[in-house]
Amino acid sequence: MKGKNKDMVFFRGDFVPSAEANISILSAVAQYGMNVFEGLRGYYNHDSLTMNVFQLPEHISRLLCSARMLKFKLDPAHTQAYIEQKVKELIKLNAHTEDIYIRVCLFLDNFWGWSSQDPVGLIINTFPKDRAFTDLKGLKCCVSSWRRINDSSFPPRIKAGPNYLNSRLSLLEAKQNGYDYPILLNDRSTVAEGPGACLFIVRNGSLITPPVYASVLESITRNAVIDVARSILKVPVMEREIDRTELYLADEIFFVGTAIEIMPVESVDGIQVKDFRPRPITREILKHYFKIVRSESEHFARWNTPIKMTQEA
Ligand code: PMP
Repeated sequence: MKGKNKDMVFFRGDFVPSAEANISILSAVAQYGMNVFEGLRGYYNHDSLTMNVFQLPEHISRLLCSARMLKFKLDPAHTQAYIEQKVKELIKLNAHTEDIYIRVCLFLDNFWGWSSQDPVGLIINTFPKDRAFTDLKGLKCCVSSWRRINDSSFPPRIKAGPNYLNSRLSLLEAKQNGYDYPILLNDRSTVAEGPGACLFIVRNGSLITPPVYASVLESITRNAVIDVARSILKVPVMEREIDRTELYLADEIFFVGTAIEIMPVESVDGIQVKDFRPRPITREILKHYFKIVRSESEHFARWNTPIKMTQEA
């Protein structure tokens, strides 16, 4: 283990400067993108000098599920507890004093073969990260001409790098056409999700989100928002298919995800979302979400893993 410089990563069982974490150009991950990964956020509390990692066990558990579905043969040392421990150690080592993003990746570290199952490398890195879309109050969205990948060919439930081909195509198309963010439909032509976030709409006081079988990632933020809405706001939540035209009638629409956090949608296909202002339910969700992740709420404290960032801790 080397000294503190905010640029250390966990790689092949050790903490090394990121410049020294190199893989072969011939590896299955370099050639075919054979990896599964997680993105997590850590929220720094300047008063308690604590980094609160949001939903750490849930993310590592989903990482291991993704590896299982792709039949990666993990190093027996790479247990849930071990990976969580290495995330915590890396955060302390990098001594961050700001909000951060944490990436944890399992990848096929062999030569060539996309059907090989091992050896599986583990890499963890951390870096400072602010809000996404700091310049925007709401997203101008379009319904993408690209369909979301589906469970019978390219399961969105597996959080693998190659899934982001579909995300990339839809996001770049949306931007080229002057929108901020696309909404993808699934094979049944109902709403799936965004390229990197799940979607909620509000209609007549109820919160509605596509079910987990609608070609979506089983999002950790989505689950958190459902819990906040039901148990704090007492707002009814429905997990059901959403038609495209419901996007045009919705009172409020917002995206949720680790990177995007809670992000309101201003318009879809040029149609203004009805209650984009004042968006009462979105505002309440957003308020509680940030109180929870910053450990300022009496609710759901268990979702945070606190890491004391002082030397003596
Ligand atoms: N859908 C997709 C396609 C994503 O990439 C993400 C971001 N991981 C999400 C949804 C949101 O998932 P989570 O809340 O677990 O970050």
